[in-house]
Order: sequence, then structure tokens, then C-alpha cells
Amino acid sequence: MPERGNRFDQFAVLEREQLNLFTQETMRAKPFMRFDTRLLRERLGNGSHRVIAIDIGGSKITSATFAINQNSSTYSDEVTRQSRNGEGYLNFLQEVGQKSDKQSMQVGISVGAVIEGTKLIHTSHMPNLFRDLAQFDGDFSRVIPRLKKVVNDSVAGTIGSLMEAQRRYPDTKQIIYLTNGSGLGAAVLTEDMIWSMEPGHIETLPELNPYGAKTTCVFTNTETSCLHAVTSGIGIENIYLQQTQEKVDGEELARRLSSGDKLVEKLYENSAMLTATTIKGIASVFGMLNSPSETTIVCHGGTFNVDKFRDLVVQFLKAGLRFEPRVHFTKDFKNPCLEGAALAAIIS
Ligand SMILES: [Zn+2]
Repeated sequence: MPERGNRFDQFAVLEREQLNLFTQETMRAKPFMRFDTRLLRERLGNGSHRVIAIDIGGSKITSATFAINQNSSTYSDEVTRQSRNGEGYLNFLQEVGQKSDKQSMQVGISVGAVIEGTKLIHTSHMPNLFRDLAQFDGDFSRVIPRLKKVVNDSVAGTIGSLMEAQRRYPDTKQIIYLTNGSGLGAAVLTEDMIWSMEPGHIETLPELNPYGAKTTCVFTNTETSCLHAVTSGIGIENIYLQQTQEKVDGEELARRLSSGDKLVEKLYENSAMLTATTIKGIASVFGMLNSPSETTIVCHGGTFNVDKFRDLVVQFLKAGLRFEPRVHFTKDFKNPCLEGAALAAIIS
């Protein structure tokens, strides 16, 4: 067994090669919306704002009424409905639409899907919402007239995380928001601009893809070793299935990790390495590590519920850096996507 130190040295060489594959183009990075942190403080400065926020995810939809001012954010009236494939979401949205009208409150939406303006463009895990919204031309604002803004969940998470991070570290100006769960996604806030991106579709170096995982990439429609296929929680489950013919969910894999299953250990370690590399790749493309005290890294998604995985990601992140990166996990935050949707409505 090589020593941990050697493993990090080996990793450093491969990491440099993998990092070379990160550019704005390969990450499909796009400026999504201006987010003027000073303007937000000003707006929040003149009293308390009440808005309704909705968070639309693959397995549940949540709404809540937020009261936000400069120093605090509280929410009440939280309603959640569990569902599969987005079944019944339209009905839920119509109810919120009526409520917001009655109470004259504006609405912000966070959704785990591809959107354009207030329209739903593509979703892989909520086909029934897509079908039901079609009668409204896919447009959320035709269901909720007081809708002010729709953002995807990475953007909402970035905005919500900024608020959380600033409460702990007032000097935070930049956020790297990374999700690892059903996919590998990210967004950043830097120089008052929020960028959306798809780092999960960068190719994986063969040396960092020990089981040769591949997937049909939604962007190129070809069999590709996209990073998400090796790195995401779902990717890990798929490789495990392919190697053992046993279908096991993330929670069971986490149990096997703590009981010392060698294959599971290897899969999580490799994923942690690539997760850390993805964060460094994003940071370097956007020149964000020149001001580490202004930068907070926020990690979101089911894979980060695994204790050992979180520790590994932080270790790999620290390797090669001359400073201690500020890393947070949204499982310790209240609800960054919901709060982000509320704040997006306030600032828009
Ligand atoms: Zn892909």
C-alpha cells in the first residue's frame, strides 16, 4: 500500500493534467445574471421584504413565505409535497399562484432544470411537470402572475449561500457553489456576476477513470467519459452496479464505506479527488484563488452527506494550496435554494 503522501504526489501530476481541460468553453460557462451585492444590501436596508419562494426538486416541491431584512431572514408557512417525476407540481404551483395574488406577494422560483427567462426548457427527472406546463407554453409566469424571477437551483444555491457565508464572514464577495449528487454541477458569483456552468461534462483523464465509466453526453450525444459519470453520487452507484452486478443506493454505499469495502473506498476517493479538482479548475478559470479571504467554497448535494467523503474532498482541496480554503457544506445551512429564490425575487 503506498503512503498517503505518495498518493497525493501522484495525484498532483494527474491533477495538473485534468486541470488543463478546464476552460470557460469546456465548462460551458455563461454569465447568467448580474447580482450586485451592494444593491442587495441597499434594498434589504430599507425595511423588511416579504416574498414567497418555491424550490422545485426531483423528489419534492416546497414553498415558504420569507421575511428578509439586512440582518436576518426567517420563513414561515412552509409547505412541502413529495412526488415522483414532477407529478402534481402544476397543481401545487397553481395554489401558490392564488395565494400570492390574495396576499399581494411576489414570488421567486428555484428549479433543478434548464430554464430560459420564466420558461422551463428541459428537465430529465420531472417529465410530468414538463408535460403539464406545456398547456402554458412552459411558462411559470402564466401559472403564477406575480412571479418575479426563476433561477436554476445552482444559481439559487449560490445566492442563498452568499447570504449564509456573509453572516459568518462579512468579507465574502465570491462564491464557488458545487453540487455532487444526481449530477456534478456548479455556479459561481464573482465581480457581481453569477455564472452558470456544466463542469460535469468535461472529459475525465483515463488515469482518473479506473473503471472506464462512460455515458451518452446530453451535449454531444456521443459516448463520453464525462466527469459526472465518474464523480457524481449516481455515477458511483452505476460503477458499483457494473462492477458487482448489485444495485445499491447511496445510503447503503455509505455504510459499506464505513465498514471498509475496498471497492467503495476506491470509488469515493477517486470521486473526492475529481470533486476537488473541479473546484480548483473553476477557481483557476475565474481567477478566484488570488483573494482566498473573499472566497467561500460551498458544497451541496447528497454525496456530501457521507462524512468520509467530505473529509477527503477537503484534504484533496488543501493539497497544493498555500492557504486554508474556506469550505462549507449546505447540509449545515437552513435552505440555500429556497432563500436564494426569495432573494432573486427581491433583487430582480
Ligand atoms: Zn456529458
